[in-house]
Amino acid sequence: MLNGWIDLRSDTVTHPTPAMREAMARAEVGDDVFGEDPTVRRLEEAAAGRMGKEAALFMASGTMANLVSLLTHCGRGDEVIVGDLAHTFLSEVGGMAALGGIHPRPIPNQPDGTLRLEDIEAAIRSEDIHHPRTRLIALENTHNRCMGAALPPEYMARVRALADRYGLKVHVDGARIFNAAVALGVPAAALARDADTVTFCLSKGLCASVGSLICGPADFIREARRVRKMVGGGMRQAGVLAAAGLVALETMVDRLAEDHRRARRLAEGLAEIPGIRIEAHRVQTNIVIFELDPRVPLTDEAFLQALEAQRVKILRWGPRRFRAVTHYWIDDTDIDRALRAIATAIPNMR
Ligand SMILES: *Cc1c(COP(=O)(O)O)cnc(C)c1O
Repeated sequence: MLNGWIDLRSDTVTHPTPAMREAMARAEVGDDVFGEDPTVRRLEEAAAGRMGKEAALFMASGTMANLVSLLTHCGRGDEVIVGDLAHTFLSEVGGMAALGGIHPRPIPNQPDGTLRLEDIEAAIRSEDIHHPRTRLIALENTHNRCMGAALPPEYMARVRALADRYGLKVHVDGARIFNAAVALGVPAAALARDADTVTFCLSKGLCASVGSLICGPADFIREARRVRKMVGGGMRQAGVLAAAGLVALETMVDRLAEDHRRARRLAEGLAEIPGIRIEAHRVQTNIVIFELDPRVPLTDEAFLQALEAQRVKILRWGPRRFRAVTHYWIDDTDIDRALRAIATAIPNMR
């Protein structure tokens, strides 16, 4: 519960924890553009360590972290192979094309969030005066639009082998990579190992207010630091933000298992409500996507309003489609109440 609401729209609605506010108030700071903020440096070192990479860079958002990563990997006219349901392709304002002249080559995301290796290979450009140059394969883990699916290390290894055969780089939008790691029971570094670069968000399930990191090789991060400055992302006493990020990394990762358990409970409860369609077995992490049966005599808007009247918020995720995301501020009672609110909102169907 947050301010009297059961807010399941996203894990981005999470407020910082009391421990984070404490750490923010006490944070040692400096001018980070001069490289003088000790708290930002500690966060960058901790993030690189968690991902098993040489270096990391603190960013204002996940969108900016992906943009700066792509701008650093690719030049104008280069092509990125990306899933057609990827956040980077669908929900980042076309930044790669608008700001980088980078050409996205979308190929189908499978229901488990992966791209088929055959599809990737078929999309790789041959040396031809007509073609853009394929530079990068971009993956997403967990996959938001694929019900929070986690991509396992074995899949990453196969993509790496393919990328190496063609001299390509691999980037992972790991906005929720810690959810994937916890769900699969592996360290996040095992999911990052076969990627050149990985981004992750502090501001989602990990509960910090602001911030994402890019992790990768030291020379890449040096260049990305210049690109970050170019897009106006150089921050000054950012240690007040990084301090919450350190608390997030140290204390908020293992507990994601609770969010996953609650998401499964929510999905199983939804499956029992007449008028709801859901593939409950697909819920692996904290994202639950479900549909309203076309026969339910309610518009999508009326359904959302009926829930809001009961202090429950979910997100419309397309026609007849909705998303609910569990997080730190949702407990077992909230799940029961949300299920009751949804059952109550749907008129009896006979
Ligand atoms: C939220 C999200 C992002 C972007 O993060 P912002 O901090 O909201 O810009 C990128 N990728 C995925 C998969 C996300 O869910």
